[in-house]
Amino acid sequence: MTLEEKIAQVKENIARAAREAGRDPAEITLVAATKVQTSDTIRQAIAGGVTICGENRVQEMTAHLDDDAYAGAALHFIGHLQTNKVRQVVGRVDLIESVGSEHLLDAIEAQAAKLDLVQDILLEVNIGGEESKSGVTPEELPALAEKAASCPHVRLRGLMAIPPVQAQPGGNRPFFAKMYQLYVDIRTKLAHNEADINCLSMGMSGDYEDAVREGATLVRVGTALFGPRPPMKQG
Ligand SMILES: *Cc1c(COP(=O)(O)O)cnc(C)c1O
Repeated sequence: MTLEEKIAQVKENIARAAREAGRDPAEITLVAATKVQTSDTIRQAIAGGVTICGENRVQEMTAHLDDDAYAGAALHFIGHLQTNKVRQVVGRVDLIESVGSEHLLDAIEAQAAKLDLVQDILLEVNIGGEESKSGVTPEELPALAEKAASCPHVRLRGLMAIPPVQAQPGGNRPFFAKMYQLYVDIRTKLAHNEADINCLSMGMSGDYEDAVREGATLVRVGTALFGPRPPMKQG
């Protein structure tokens, strides 16, 4: 299958899962996780129907931006962001999906203020309570959401999660369901910002259909579009 065919297939799977769950397929957007891909592959993906690219390494993203590889698509930052790299991301991406600490939120607010812009963000929730993962706990979330909503140079758009890797198909559905509940709670709690809060980013190649069934509005898919990646160190 060509890249274009794979993109069409993933979109079809998303639409089918949405309809099965009684949802409007238009509520869900595919985010192509483009880490380790070349600028040419990214251009091909956009020509083939990708409307959002998700990057998780600042250095790669910067190189692709210098190449103008994302032209015609929106750009999300989906990886772990160190505060010392915030300058290279704020104002250069449409959405930072992975804001998982107050420290990082403060750094983004400060940089956005300096540039006199408003940066859209999602708060990342460590929904599996995993030691190795970033993100706030469900218990910490309401306070951080309230703070984000009160930052003048940040617009809180919703939540993101990377649940634990599961051996069993369907294993992540309970985590997705919990995330949906947290998302609804945050929307209710921050009712004055409700119109802004319309993003729930969850689901990857192995489980995006279940994420859609449980209420995702953004699914981040890499392998199912581009094939397996070589093993890479984090960063
Ligand atoms: C790589 C990546 C994905 C996509 O993972 P696949 O399993 O290849 O679909 C999704 N989210 C994040 C944060 C990623 O880094």
